[in-house]
Amino acid sequence: MNTNDFTDLKLFITGPTYIRPEVRQAGCLPEFGHRDSEAVKRFGSIFTNLATLAGLPEDSDYKVAVINGSGTCAMETAVRSLAGPDDTVLSVSIGAFGDLFHKLAVLNGKRTEALHYEPGQAMDLASLERALDEVKPSLVLLTHNETSTGVTNDVAAAVALVHSRGALAAVDGVSIFGGAPLDLPTMQPDIYLTATQKSLGLPAGFGLAFAGPKAVAKAETVPNKGWITDLTAHLGRAAKLQTLTTPNTSLANQMAVQLDYIINEEGMEKRFARHIAMRDRVHEFVNNLDGFELFAPEGYRSPTVTCVQVPEPLKTVQLKAIKETMRDKGYLFDPGYGKLNTAMEGAGKQPVFRIGHMGDTSMAMVDAFLATLGPVLKEASAG
Ligand SMILES: *Cc1c(COP(=O)(O)O)cnc(C)c1O
Repeated sequence: MNTNDFTDLKLFITGPTYIRPEVRQAGCLPEFGHRDSEAVKRFGSIFTNLATLAGLPEDSDYKVAVINGSGTCAMETAVRSLAGPDDTVLSVSIGAFGDLFHKLAVLNGKRTEALHYEPGQAMDLASLERALDEVKPSLVLLTHNETSTGVTNDVAAAVALVHSRGALAAVDGVSIFGGAPLDLPTMQPDIYLTATQKSLGLPAGFGLAFAGPKAVAKAETVPNKGWITDLTAHLGRAAKLQTLTTPNTSLANQMAVQLDYIINEEGMEKRFARHIAMRDRVHEFVNNLDGFELFAPEGYRSPTVTCVQVPEPLKTVQLKAIKETMRDKGYLFDPGYGKLNTAMEGAGKQPVFRIGHMGDTSMAMVDAFLATLGPVLKEASAG
């Protein structure tokens, strides 16, 4: 087939993200048998480096699982494995991905109550506390970084509150892991879930789970966990540095190379500082554009995704046209989370667009993207 028309766009969406040439090439490393000693050569360092990125000391009682599929598969594994027939789940949603976590609990037949916040807001602890006392859940679903709105929740405080009521806390960290410091021993979620294709700068294909001792124990008591959503089964294989089912060996090769790069070449501190610097640059860009507003409240603005509310006369239609203009200039622009913009416009509010600044995207790439986007936005908003 002719692959010459596969366009090499620079991705500024919120995942998947830009893949470095070295990581693309690592996809060509030899395939291997997933129950063979060759597998350990890749997964040995993958498991160790994931624990390091999560701030886990060597003697940590958190267990790491690499789960085939994407982030949603890791989230579904948590829902299936941590709530039994007599348990109530409380889902806390500040946007589309909180809604996804809720949906997973409902579709898996869990008794589920939802606590919702307005899009663009972070959760607040007072209303969470009231909901915990009303619903008395055994499991609470939280979002660390809401990718649809660019809002980062104060998860550590929420987890502490959840624990004070005796419930388990499951945290969706899909779009932030690898782009910001994570200190699991301090945050203490019972399970933390993420994926490869966002801030880790890899293709999609693995969900990742970090399970604490209470989650491990709970999963052993929950019936009907399915098989590929059974946390206990995943952890059993992970103890042998394996995946439960056949992994994508190209991705495993890429992941071994990329995690080693993150930890031993770029360095975590530099990586996290780069994300903050990219975010600040994007904020400065937005603040210099007449009428455009950062959607997330100050203090809760994501280090990996910025969501921007656009002024009149811009609507979703124009944002979609801007996407095509940017494509012609070599970029994939994100014209906002579809359902959110439909809801916003339905409520007479202005829509949003998003800029992903995560993974291996560099400051030079951000600068070039913004230099291209600025005139396009100005021209479109001039009507
Ligand atoms: C992307 C994303 C997901 C979904 O992850 P997949 O890997 O696409 O399954 C879930 N939660 C958040 C916060 C996300 O950004």
